Amino acid sequence: MTEYTPKERLARALTDQTVDRMPAVSVTQTGTIEQMEACDAFWPEANDDAEKMATLAEAAHTLLGFEAVRVPFDITAEANLFGCEIKPGTKDQQPSVVGHVVNNIDDIEKIKGYDLSQGRIGVICDSIKILADKYGDELPIMGSMIGPFSLAQHINGDDWFMAIFTKEEFGLALMEVTTDFCVDYARKMVENGADTMVIIDPTASAQLIGAAFYEKFVVPYHKKIVDAMHELNVATVLHICGDTTKGLSMMESCGVDAISIDQSVDVATAVSTAEKAVIIGNLDPVNVLWNKTPEIVKEESQKVLDAGVGILAPGCGIVSKTPNANLQAMAEVAKSYRY
Ligand SMILES: [Zn+2]
Repeated sequence: MTEYTPKERLARALTDQTVDRMPAVSVTQTGTIEQMEACDAFWPEANDDAEKMATLAEAAHTLLGFEAVRVPFDITAEANLFGCEIKPGTKDQQPSVVGHVVNNIDDIEKIKGYDLSQGRIGVICDSIKILADKYGDELPIMGSMIGPFSLAQHINGDDWFMAIFTKEEFGLALMEVTTDFCVDYARKMVENGADTMVIIDPTASAQLIGAAFYEKFVVPYHKKIVDAMHELNVATVLHICGDTTKGLSMMESCGVDAISIDQSVDVATAVSTAEKAVIIGNLDPVNVLWNKTPEIVKEESQKVLDAGVGILAPGCGIVSKTPNANLQAMAEVAKSYRY
């Protein structure tokens, strides 16, 4: 069978076309301390400096054998652009959003009119350009961003879940703004060389908000982003944390090419539930990838493959203390698998 470049292989695998073998990738964050030490690009600096970000992203390819490069390593750059206060990250911890800027519908006007060249959003786009210039012919260049629902939560704070139940007009207005931003930002990443888009929308979960609210507050907005990416011929992956089993069909209904499932989802169930979307996952980042041996990682990977997964990958963001050897073991298993 034809040999594909990693870029062709992933694009085909994500759109359910025949490939020679499974690609070895992580659609969730890849930065780890062992990689930082090997390539001399450390968190938190690698979150704020385009060159360092690219260097650490590249390590997942050169050191771990992953067949893609992916940025960024966290999901706070977006809220930061809108003025939310961020608790800075450390060498082993990602930054987090601690301050919120929108309390009511009148505040929404204030966050319109952002500049995508500013702040960390600009840095991430520059980093994509560096990676695309170096690897764009060969490797998939994965751009990742927070999804519009979780971004709205970052902007509004913990009141967000109550807001969608009790202040619909406000909730939908904020979703419009975060979604328009996500579309603009995703397009900018593609302009800079990204060819694969990952939407990480951790809390946009039907398990948390129920099916009716998921249909109203999530599906149409994800669809807008996916449609914009499909216009540019960019495959899109959706990751939502936790047990998304009951929400899988609704997740798929936005037209996304692939769904990245958490370790709490049963792979076989997900594969049989999805009509078209490729299922990606779902090695436990803590209890397997971080805390077990390469031998166990291989055994657990085999179980995920046996259950019919489309692409073997971590079930959520890789923990920074994860040993290289375990990630290399996962990559090896993926590469040896023929569909
Ligand atoms: Zn997750």
